[in-house]
Amino acid sequence: EVEELRLLASAEPVTLDGEPLVLRANVDLPEEAEQAANSGADGVGLMRTEFLVVGRATMPDEDEQYRAYARVVDAFGGHPVVIRTFDVGGDKLPVGGFPVEPNPFLGWRAIRMCLDEPELFKTQLRALLRAATHGDVRIMLPLVVTVEEVREARALMEESAAELRARGVPHRDDVALGVMIETPAAAVSVDTFAGEVAFFSIGTNDLVQYTLAVDRGNALLAPRFTPLHPAVLRLIARTVEVAHDNNIEVAVCGEMASQPLMAFALIGLGLRQLSVAARNVPAVKRIVRGIHASRAADAARRALRAGTAAEAERILLEALEREL
Ligand code: PEP
Ligand code: MG
Repeated sequence: EVEELRLLASAEPVTLDGEPLVLRANVDLPEEAEQAANSGADGVGLMRTEFLVVGRATMPDEDEQYRAYARVVDAFGGHPVVIRTFDVGGDKLPVGGFPVEPNPFLGWRAIRMCLDEPELFKTQLRALLRAATHGDVRIMLPLVVTVEEVREARALMEESAAELRARGVPHRDDVALGVMIETPAAAVSVDTFAGEVAFFSIGTNDLVQYTLAVDRGNALLAPRFTPLHPAVLRLIARTVEVAHDNNIEVAVCGEMASQPLMAFALIGLGLRQLSVAARNVPAVKRIVRGIHASRAADAARRALRAGTAAEAERILLEALEREL
């Protein structure tokens, strides 16, 4: 088993019918970077920067953030590293200074908070533009619901670059900007983002939560948290279709991608980039190498027409079992 995992780390994530995939790692803390780089991941598909602030009483300053981001970029030696701007709020809170809200998951969080606190946001953006001198950094915005949020963020990114230029600090000002597709609003209107961003990354944890109105962390609701619900499958399929039509990169970085059946479904829906927790990279690679993308596509087509998550699951499971 250990030997197999070691071999998998260097194996290519290619399906049996020759479709190459890109498998990346999700990284929560800079200290995880080196281990994630050894997992066989081709870069980072999601760095959750809010873990730099969760549980702390003060925000990390620009230099501390720069060092944290640069460490991750350095560990991946030139491979793409997608760093998400602070997704603070909801269940991820620093100590003090944040309002107590009746509905945190529908509240003042993520890109909303960052746009309302431009100095805090620009500090992070400057640190990211500096870290981009170390490799292939891409900046991703969380919980986006409208294109205006992207435009405002881009304007603050340009201001941040101008500030660094004025200070004479090395940085890049051509960093790709992308969005999480993790709200029903973003998924339904995904075409409106196509001309504005370089990439989409589907966050299935939140997309399922918001689409089904099922709290992702509530154990009472766990059986109702069904990523194969027709509503979710259709939103994912539409996002992939719009991405392909517009030549925009699209990935999935939610936990869904690390379960074999779900990975099979996502590949069937046309996804070729998955980002999962580093410890799950070998298992997902094993699935990729054991299936035919064409058969996944056929099963996904039929699953998309299913009336329920249970029916979609039956269709996909049957197809996957024939593969393995
Ligand atoms: C998601 O929502 O699917 C996601 C990847 O982000 P997070 O789990 O950090 O909300
Ligand atoms: Mg999310």
